[in-house]
Amino acid sequence: MSADGSAPIDATKRASEARRIETRSPVSGEVIGSFPIADEDAVAEAVARARAALPLWRALPVVERMRRLDGLKPLIEARGEELAKRLSQETGKPWVEALAHEIMLVPIFLDYHRKFAAKVLRRKKAHTPLLLTGKASYIEHFPRGVIGVISPWNFPFQLAIIPMIQALTAGNAVVLKPSEVTPDSGEMIRELFAELDLPEGLVQVVQGEGATGAALCRADVDMIFFTGSVATGRKVMAACAARPIPCELELGGKDAMIVCEDAPLERAVKGAVWGGFANAGQACVSVERLFVVDAIYDRFVEAVQRDVEALRLGGPEEEADVGPMIFKGQLAIVGRHIREAVAAGARILTGGAAVERPGHFFAPTLITDVTPEMSVYREETFGPVLPVIRVRDEEEAIRLANDHVYGLNASVWTRDLKRGLAIASRLECGQVTVNDVFSSVGNPSLPFGGVRSSGIGRYHGEEGLLTFTNTRGIMVDRALFEAEPNWYPYRGKHHGVLELMKGLIRKSPLQLTRGFLRTRKPKNED
Ligand code: NAD
Repeated sequence: MSADGSAPIDATKRASEARRIETRSPVSGEVIGSFPIADEDAVAEAVARARAALPLWRALPVVERMRRLDGLKPLIEARGEELAKRLSQETGKPWVEALAHEIMLVPIFLDYHRKFAAKVLRRKKAHTPLLLTGKASYIEHFPRGVIGVISPWNFPFQLAIIPMIQALTAGNAVVLKPSEVTPDSGEMIRELFAELDLPEGLVQVVQGEGATGAALCRADVDMIFFTGSVATGRKVMAACAARPIPCELELGGKDAMIVCEDAPLERAVKGAVWGGFANAGQACVSVERLFVVDAIYDRFVEAVQRDVEALRLGGPEEEADVGPMIFKGQLAIVGRHIREAVAAGARILTGGAAVERPGHFFAPTLITDVTPEMSVYREETFGPVLPVIRVRDEEEAIRLANDHVYGLNASVWTRDLKRGLAIASRLECGQVTVNDVFSSVGNPSLPFGGVRSSGIGRYHGEEGLLTFTNTRGIMVDRALFEAEPNWYPYRGKHHGVLELMKGLIRKSPLQLTRGFLRTRKPKNED
């Protein structure tokens, strides 16, 4: 309920007549939910409601917006466990993962914004060149307006709520279109924001499949923030280009992990296994290409195999380490990559097939002798598969890591931190960790995003806040002169302008002064 006692946020008024999405548990296959689909009109209405709430919200100072958004913290404290369980029910992911990688990010990101957002978004003084002496320059950021957030199913809570927090902090209204695979996560977000003291209608949630997402891109929004696959990202970008409005694309990855000869071995082994199998490998930042230098390859792979074989597969109730594929269709993609790799000479050390039990489970798979021609190397697998590539040395690893259409995230493992940083700086991707895997995603100060097919734009951090703003340059003149040197009339100013240009190039105060005097006072008036 909003502060003025108005009705909870509801973007799908005609819900009772709408087509519905039915969701099934990825663990048991049982039906667990049914959600009305928002059609084109319902989407347009949601956007209109969000737009109507915009003036009240953007007029508030940043600190006041943050104070109100901070209301999410006590809600998370009170309901965090329940939300994590709901999230686990919908996705099959372990409770620990639902809590640590999704719910817990909300207070972390709120704290960052309370500390830094006002500073990032405030008006800043800019340099004014000599020629424009007497003027003052400023840079300002103002909200873009209504942001359409379209989210995927793999981290359905955090990949929706974090960009929403950033967009709202920057003064925008938001319409969220969650994945049709995980609509209940969108409902949780709707419930949480409905409890806050926000202008009525500021946050809207529209449920639906791709068609609802496409309708959102066509609606009266000012920007689309999209997280999902490259194929859909292309369609979203094309739809935004037709308007045109800006879009940010957070797309897939094929992240490299480079293990050097002097790596902290046991830590690197555990990092590789966690990085490859957390969220059952369904992370855009999963380790999907593990490069190990020849000198330690055999020892390393043996230890990785030991740890992969120790992983427990199952649903949240079983306190498993690795859950099911959230989206059933993913089983076929993972299966195809494994089959094609084996046919081309790769070796399965453990796993390698779907598991005979209800739900969508694929056994944690360690696969070696992987080469760049294989689909398991070229395409995003997005499943519990760790492909290992033997390399001569780190130079070969760097070359191979960079020679790919994706460039999202990577990691380097060495006890020589200087060397680690030097390698990190040569990797063409949006984020790199040294002796760690993708923990940087949870650091709200660091920008997040990809290069090449991994996406366009950055969120998180300062850059991420500014993503949700337009920039305005302002210049103020104290009006001491009647006119500027380059204003009318031009007659007689030729030599003055030439002197100004030469004075600027030579940094000659004398020539500049002469130029100013001659242009301020046209020759024919002498
Ligand atoms: P997807 O592209 O199938 O769907 C993403 C969203 O787009 C869904 O909400 C879907 O309904 C919607 N959509 C579908 N067609 C649309 C259209 N024509 N117009 C507008 N919206 C449309 O992606 P997915 O399968 O849900 O997610 C997995 C993908 O997301 C993987 O490739 C993964 O790497 C990527 N991902 C990227 C990041 C990142 O931050 N870079 C994070 C997580 C996931």
